[in-house]
Amino acid sequence: MSDLTRRQLLKLGAAGAGATALAPLANPLGFDLRLAKKRELDFRIAGAKEVHSICPYCAVGCALIAYTKEDASGKAQLLQIEGDPDSPVNEGRLCPKGATAMQLATSSRRVKAPMYRAPGSAKWEEKTWDFMLDKLAQNLKASRDNTFVAQDANGNIVNRTEGVAFAGGAAFSSEEGYFATKMMRTLGVVHLEQQARV
Ligand code: SF4
Repeated sequence: MSDLTRRQLLKLGAAGAGATALAPLANPLGFDLRLAKKRELDFRIAGAKEVHSICPYCAVGCALIAYTKEDASGKAQLLQIEGDPDSPVNEGRLCPKGATAMQLATSSRRVKAPMYRAPGSAKWEEKTWDFMLDKLAQNLKASRDNTFVAQDANGNIVNRTEGVAFAGGAAFSSEEGYFATKMMRTLGVVHLEQQARV
């Protein structure tokens, strides 16, 4: 018992609770609903690949497990996303927002390519990532050039970029956060924010 992992313990608990709840459903004609229920669960993620990830919505950083399986054409199909019982952060639970994480991938309203709206235009256009990254770099440079402050009103050298702000994502790893901060500070950006406080 001392070697039991949290995941095994939760599975045992769930199996026990399920058996207790379903016991009255076993009927005298020999049709066992417990078996039918188990088969249904088996079929849903049987043979699926388990992929670990982090909920992107907030700074709590709950761990997720995504179950995927290849269809007949070899394309990965997302079957289910649930909380990771091995995570010390959420221990298998997700808040209502995180519980909808599967819709990030399956929603019919999901945006699947970069969308660009030119200045003055009311129309969004689909563009390539190359176009978007070039545009981002050009706009960043233009804003920096236009708003760079080398000295403040008292003559102190400040070398800051006041026309650019940066907001990090809650799903950043420590390394990504470190890199983004260094990159922005190198450009002179002083307005740095984190989603954890938004
Ligand atoms: S599941 Fe909820 S609490 Fe957890 S990271 Fe996602 S949004 Fe935050």
